Amino acid sequence: MTATAQAAASAHEGGNQGGDQGGDQAAAEPAIQCDRLVRVHKAGSLEVQALQGLDLRVERGEMVAMVGASGSGKSTLLNILAGLDAPSAGSARVAGHQLAGMREADRLRYRRHEVGVIWQNPAGNLLPHLTAAENVALPLRYAGTGYRARRARALDLLDELGLADHRDRIPARLSGGEQQRVAIAVALANKPSVLLADEPTGELDSQTAENVFEALRAANREHGATVLVVTHDPAIAGRVARTIAIRDGRVATETLRTAGPDSAGAGLGPGIEYAVVDSAGRLQLPREFTEPLGIRDRVRLEREADHIGVWPHQSDEEQSS
Ligand code: ADP
Ligand code: MG
Repeated sequence: MTATAQAAASAHEGGNQGGDQGGDQAAAEPAIQCDRLVRVHKAGSLEVQALQGLDLRVERGEMVAMVGASGSGKSTLLNILAGLDAPSAGSARVAGHQLAGMREADRLRYRRHEVGVIWQNPAGNLLPHLTAAENVALPLRYAGTGYRARRARALDLLDELGLADHRDRIPARLSGGEQQRVAIAVALANKPSVLLADEPTGELDSQTAENVFEALRAANREHGATVLVVTHDPAIAGRVARTIAIRDGRVATETLRTAGPDSAGAGLGPGIEYAVVDSAGRLQLPREFTEPLGIRDRVRLEREADHIGVWPHQSDEEQSS
């Protein structure tokens, strides 16, 4: 069994335990766990199945990249994990909270305390008439933190992100990369356990993108936040230990990277791509594998000691000839 197959199998066991028990069980629970997550968008008489039974498990403290073609369901997933949208079916648990069927008041509390979100458009992450420090202090105000404490935390966070000199600037007087780093400070303000970023460097040049990526990494390492970052940038996806590829609303493959023997922590090897086996045992065969063999609607499986053989189905004439 591959590492990913093991992960999928144990994700299933976790799902069966269910419940909201505290203590050890909550501590052992992953940061994010989706089981057969479905989201259907209705646009008039049309239905779009943006998520089609997605299984995903992200451990506490992990930093994971998510890639996938436009329209594959990445933003739909992030909106659900952020508590801004609700699943049509299936289960999505984040930091011990079941998001399916969550009441509005709980959803608001969840959004305020458990998750921080950074969107692609830098300007959209900040209020234009507030300074950087005021933007960072705002979520603390909503959470009921007193003036002095929220001012102090805002300045600490901005300092940490290398923005101390910019604390009194409004967003229009910050570069795109600086705005995104302020957005990370805003997202971290209430000490969320999970940070979600939807193409946070999509509108930045590569050097600026690098700075924003490093700020996310610092949020992961120094604040212990679990980070899930959607990206189109191969330079970023190649620098985390696990990259999830989603296709047609499901996790299709995962690439796992380990540090090379001569790397000083920062460098990761090229990684190995694994197909994902879901909790029902389903596996997606890549087209590059199936097409040359003429594999279409059915295959013959053969169990070997250490692997499974997949053979193209032969019609009766082919078999008898
Ligand atoms: P991605 O972020 O990977 O580009 P999305 O999650 O935005 O993908 O979209 C997945 C699919 O759902 C697409 O086919 C998209 O057109 C559709 N979709 C997303 N949001 C809505 C919506 N609010 N109403 C209708 N269809 C939507
Ligand atoms: Mg998107």
